[in-house]
Amino acid sequence: MRTLLLPLRAMVDTETTAETPAEGEPKDKRRKYLTWLLVLLMENGKETLSGHAQDLVEERIGLGQFHDRMVRDMGDQYSHAAHLGRQLAGSTAPFGQWDMMFGQAVAALSSIKYLQDFVSDLNGQRYRDDDGNLKADPVLARAALYAGLALGVANAAWKQTVASERFVWHTTEDESTCDTCASRDGQEYTRDTCPSPGEDSECGARCRCWIETIDGETCFVLP
Ligand SMILES: [Zn+2]
Repeated sequence: MRTLLLPLRAMVDTETTAETPAEGEPKDKRRKYLTWLLVLLMENGKETLSGHAQDLVEERIGLGQFHDRMVRDMGDQYSHAAHLGRQLAGSTAPFGQWDMMFGQAVAALSSIKYLQDFVSDLNGQRYRDDDGNLKADPVLARAALYAGLALGVANAAWKQTVASERFVWHTTEDESTCDTCASRDGQEYTRDTCPSPGEDSECGARCRCWIETIDGETCFVLP
């Protein structure tokens, strides 16, 4: 499944350097293009991560290997998400060390915050049928959820890069909106105090809230 990431990586690397709409072209064209790349990255990530779950359910890999592959590919995916976020904020430096460190740091943190719970649930009875076998559907679905964090990572990188230091939070109301997100609606923050969408909220990877600088620049908002 990992091979799926390779053509995408090549595409993200070449197209964002060689074919990104040049400066002077309408800004929203560039935004649309970067949003499209982010959506592709997330779709691809879902496929890759649920592939590891499939390997686990079908006993081709053990829990330790499953965890390590998840962290590795989340790191990969989040690094590219960080690159896209940085580009949305106007940075033109090619994919590099900063993106990799940013992405891998979030993957390591997500492992501690969420993935280790998943692994212990997989170890217990929660996902097992009467014969003790893992149930494929919920396991694959939960693994795929981690790909959704890429949006939050891209927006965290955007927030770190964009020129303005002051931000306003906008809560998106849907069935996954949590109380934490709801309480942030319309709040003003500095770069240091502003949470990134999906960060420290119960809706986590499902969060579709967004932030805006006080000059009206917005982070990624998925269609
Ligand atoms: Zn939210």
